[in-house]
Amino acid sequence: MNGSIDTDIDELHWTLGLLQDLEVGLVVVDRDSYICLWNGFMENHSGIPSGKALNQNLFTLCPELPQRWLKKKIESVLLLSNTAYISWEQRPYLFEFKSHRPITGKSPFMYQNVTLIPLSSPTGQIDHIGILIYDVTDTAVGKTELEAANNQLQSLSRTDGLTGLNNRAYWQECLEKEFDRFDRSNEISSVVMFDIDHFKKVNDTYGHQAGDVVIQKIAELLDHHARKTDITGRYGGEEYGAILVGTNGENAIVFAERLRAAVEHTVMEHGDLKLSVTISLGISEINHDHQSALEWLEEADQALYKSKQSGRNWVTLFEAES
Ligand code: GH3
Ligand code: MG
Ligand code: MG
Repeated sequence: MNGSIDTDIDELHWTLGLLQDLEVGLVVVDRDSYICLWNGFMENHSGIPSGKALNQNLFTLCPELPQRWLKKKIESVLLLSNTAYISWEQRPYLFEFKSHRPITGKSPFMYQNVTLIPLSSPTGQIDHIGILIYDVTDTAVGKTELEAANNQLQSLSRTDGLTGLNNRAYWQECLEKEFDRFDRSNEISSVVMFDIDHFKKVNDTYGHQAGDVVIQKIAELLDHHARKTDITGRYGGEEYGAILVGTNGENAIVFAERLRAAVEHTVMEHGDLKLSVTISLGISEINHDHQSALEWLEEADQALYKSKQSGRNWVTLFEAES
């Protein structure tokens, strides 16, 4: 370093000395990433005293820093002489510091907002960069927790309590979305509706609780037979729906037939009770004649009605009468 830069840095020290005791980290580095200033905040949180940090290469002193990324940022700040802001949401932290309240705090590390400021010398040249580190752990943890709570709430508001399937409102919302998607992409889908046969008899004979167990068990079977991309829901009391995304009517029959047989052959237990039920299913393949998602769904319901009329424990694909 030559004398004039030393003087500049002395001045910088004096000015930035004000920042020494603030709850903000300040590091000044030169073009080659050598440290010219390391304030109290940095000392406290890194455990490295200023005397040891000064004149060291930043990346040698802190090997955990994302070297390539930070060097690129620093280069662009020097080149454009523009301040750069990096929020914790882009990168949770730059320096690996422990959270200042590791016990009561909910984060093991300190979230940081980082500002890179080009520092110009009296000659107008940009030879140094100030790195400011703001501790934003409280804000970040608050926001992260709020988001988690919101997600949980949202998922609760979409879920049917008894079965864990999507509830009717959310399932119908998905059906609308699928309908709109078909309009744009032309990708075929089918909707399946089904209803437990003679379910009143189950309730009347074995009680409502046994009925609930049957409703749950069938939801499990539905979940088990559906693909990951299928959207299943409890439509009503003992009525269910499945949107088979990307599946045509013919393949939907295969799915429905498998589910029908699985239900028929499952013995459900409730205490000492063992019982079996059957389901009737109706399918509608989406097409451009459908004016709305509801119309598409109504066709599946009509097909379901036909299955009931055909003696139950049956699968029907809706076919438009020409
Ligand atoms: P079908 O073969 O024609 O479908 O005859 P069904 O007896 O199943 O007739 P329906 O589908 O109309 O019966 C619905 C019954 O489901 C009436 C209601 O008591 C019962 N139910 C609706 N929701 C629940 C529930 O959450 N738990 C229990 N246990 N029963 C329910
Ligand atoms: Mg019913
Ligand atoms: Mg029924």
